[in-house]
Amino acid sequence: MDNNPFLNAQQQIDDAAKYSDCDSEIIKVLKEPQRVIEVSIPIEMDNGKVEIFKGYRSQHNNYRGPYKGGIRYHPGVNVDEVKALSAWMTFKCATVDIPFGGGKGGVIVDPHKLSEHELKHLTQGYIDKIFDLIGPEKDIPAPDVYTNAQTMAWIMDEYSHIARVHSPAVVTGKPLENEGSLGRDTATAQGAAYVLYEYLQTVEKKLENTSVAIQGFGNAGAHLAKILYDSGFKIIAVSDSKGAIFSTDGLDPRAIEEHKEKTGSVKNFKGTKNIPADDILTLKVDVLVPAALENVITNKNATKIKAGCILEVANGPTTPEADEILEKKKIDIIPDILANAGGVTVSYFEWVQNLSRFYWSAEEVDSKLKSKMESAFSDIHNFAKKKKITYRQAAFALAINRIGKAVKNRGILN
Ligand code: NAD
Repeated sequence: MDNNPFLNAQQQIDDAAKYSDCDSEIIKVLKEPQRVIEVSIPIEMDNGKVEIFKGYRSQHNNYRGPYKGGIRYHPGVNVDEVKALSAWMTFKCATVDIPFGGGKGGVIVDPHKLSEHELKHLTQGYIDKIFDLIGPEKDIPAPDVYTNAQTMAWIMDEYSHIARVHSPAVVTGKPLENEGSLGRDTATAQGAAYVLYEYLQTVEKKLENTSVAIQGFGNAGAHLAKILYDSGFKIIAVSDSKGAIFSTDGLDPRAIEEHKEKTGSVKNFKGTKNIPADDILTLKVDVLVPAALENVITNKNATKIKAGCILEVANGPTTPEADEILEKKKIDIIPDILANAGGVTVSYFEWVQNLSRFYWSAEEVDSKLKSKMESAFSDIHNFAKKKKITYRQAAFALAINRIGKAVKNRGILN
């Protein structure tokens, strides 16, 4: 069970349900995706050979609004991962109270091995296969691991091409030139930073020199490193899929970004020590940030974690068994469905701007994001203190209440 993310997601729902006001019959509904589809995508590769790629889209729940969630390109994609990620999206959108349900897609592929031309055809082929299921009022994809603004522009183009309409609102995380939103590229990291600042105030910790280790140096992790560095935090370790680096003096994330652009990895950056990739999780730091993939903090390493708190920027990085161990060790976890909700929040703002054809300033996006994140943290913090439960249990329970009421009001179960 420890490494099946979908079973873990179901267990998180069960763990929180007892603190919610929701009927047990509705909980049964919230534990299952409404629809999961598998598609096969044949691509003529640059060498003239045909390869078949397998893809999925899981539509977990749409009682509060259209399905919403990213598309992941990764060799480890599987149906249980996609189902779990879609469920977390439903609870995440309810946590920050935006009118979306949850969905997620994935294609089993190592995108680093494909040319730009092949990736474009793969994206078009995937959208062609799921075209009937998506749309601005149905299901709205976004970026996730190893997909980016370029992938989103191809999705918008393919969908618009098949539908014979100009349809930017079918996907979020688009480039600015294609009706993306200002602030979307940094939104996940900025939202996580706002929540972290609020949390650190509650434990009366100053931001200056707060030490941080970040696993994953991609869209979420690298932007967060820069935002925290600019706020006076000391980034002492970062990692990517190829390895980890460490320096007690602190790292400059912009210099590491340049190094990664040149060499393909954060490894071997001058003045730092290469450490085994997994050691980043067990460093003694004030804030540990998993920002890569799920199931990295498990019953095997949770006892060794020495961080003051964990900010879950990745989805599902901590298994329920590890949660129990960390609770006993009194290590607070700021759960994924709150910590990384800034991404979908600004995706919501992008969708609203696309539908209204009226575009906001960066300041407007940022101030709306800040207020959403701070009010979600405050609700969860107060509920957790009142009930003497973890932030994860509080976040899920409050989300369950919101979704449960939407189900009941619509008369779906009675
Ligand atoms: P990304 O593709 O931009 O970056 C992923 C990073 O993780 C890369 O640096 C990669 O090298 C690293 N990585 C992969 N395997 C690793 C491993 N085994 N050990 C260490 N590092 C590893 O992806 P992203 O968008 O930054 O997403 C990262 C996480 O954040 C995912 O869990 C994703 O679901 C979550 N998330 C992203 C967004 C978003 O808006 N991008 C929003 C919410 C949640």
